[in-house]
Amino acid sequence: MTPAAPATEPQPAPAPIENPRDITAYNFRVAADRLGLDTEMRMLLSTPFRELRVEVPVRLDDGSLKVFLGYRIQHNGGRGPAKGGIRYHPAVTVDEVRALAEAMTWKTALVNIPFGGAKGGIVCDPLTMSQRELERLTRRYTSRIQVILGPFRDIPAPDMNTNAQVMTWIFDEYSAHHGYTPACVTGKPVELGGSLGREQATGNGVSIVVREIMRELGRPVEGATVAIQGFGNVGSNAAVALNRMGGRIIGISDVYGGIFSAKGISLDELDVHRKATGKIQGFAGTQPISNEDLLELKCDVLIPAALECVIHRRNAERVQASVIAEAANLPTTAEAGEILDRRGVVVVPDVLTNAGGVTVSYFEWTQNLQQLFWEESRVNAEMEKIMVNAFRNVLTRSRSEKISMRAAAYAIAIERVARAEKLRGI
Ligand code: NAD
Repeated sequence: MTPAAPATEPQPAPAPIENPRDITAYNFRVAADRLGLDTEMRMLLSTPFRELRVEVPVRLDDGSLKVFLGYRIQHNGGRGPAKGGIRYHPAVTVDEVRALAEAMTWKTALVNIPFGGAKGGIVCDPLTMSQRELERLTRRYTSRIQVILGPFRDIPAPDMNTNAQVMTWIFDEYSAHHGYTPACVTGKPVELGGSLGREQATGNGVSIVVREIMRELGRPVEGATVAIQGFGNVGSNAAVALNRMGGRIIGISDVYGGIFSAKGISLDELDVHRKATGKIQGFAGTQPISNEDLLELKCDVLIPAALECVIHRRNAERVQASVIAEAANLPTTAEAGEILDRRGVVVVPDVLTNAGGVTVSYFEWTQNLQQLFWEESRVNAEMEKIMVNAFRNVLTRSRSEKISMRAAAYAIAIERVARAEKLRGI
């Protein structure tokens, strides 16, 4: 185990801010200043609780051995067991995992579910690996981090390039060490204790906050134009849900590039095209568009649903959307956030926008502990209640204190975690 990162005193934000850790540090600092948090509490809340770095040797299909680097970082457990996804991506870094773990602490606090924050990641390129290689990688990684996991310690979930199958391998490997433990991980297939509605939960939650903010702005989702960067679990489910509400999806992209149609993209027909070709590119009736241009499309709602730091100081002035719903974690750098605020672009922050996933993960964990199953209608209704409530709290605070929705969300969350730490005793 590596020692925790050294705690630092509040500093002015450096520019340019491109490291995801700088985004959480900046957001934390703004909220901590507003709340008047003392130096000790700042140190406590900005320092990760535990960081585990593991080397993961895997025998590849061609017989060679490759050693992958993996992390599991628990940021804070003041309000409950640590909770957060596991990402497989070539660009995973320790700072990225730290930042994402911290964002989970604020997210679970904001929606007021009894968890802290954690994140995991493996530096790998899953797009070039076979299923058998991914299974061996996941099992070996799990066996190396299982000492700090557990239903009342730390509960992983899916993130970029991980899915219900990966969660199943984690569940199976953890259970081999500790006995049958479905509550050790969420995002499992329904047949193995997963929750109905979990797969679509993050995207559905995104659509709920978009509906709420549009209602507040007096412009219904019906007829609104939407551009979405990232068409994986979150982006595709958000597209379907917003389309169902009457939104017109005019731009979609993934790691390979994007497609655009001013008339709107038929998601059903795109699905047929994608199943036939394995890609969204080349879909009839659309024009190709780059990921960069998609972010600058003239549209009502822009939804980044892929990587962090994609909206930065070099493109923030050119974003034409009037609302940004941050489905990805940390998609906007601190400097870009200031530019967007100044320009009057309404940004619904990630810790609120994409919290539907961890909320339904909480329901999955609860169902596993109680060994019962909820109907999908109940899952969706309870998630919606939590999301709308969190949205209202953030909006009310942002209006009463005349601050951005991001600053309001962080203030609410940090207050809750600080209170828990104080009550438990340092
Ligand atoms: P995913 O792996 O299912 O999909 C990711 C999508 O992003 C894919 O379409 C991929 O092609 C695209 N992508 C990857 N690199 C890209 C690039 N450089 N430019 C453009 N597109 C790129 O992942 P996901 O689960 O949908 O997660 C997406 C984002 O949402 C991440 O930021 C993740 O942390 C966040 N998130 C996910 C969940 C969840 O429940 N899965 C919950 C909360 C937040």
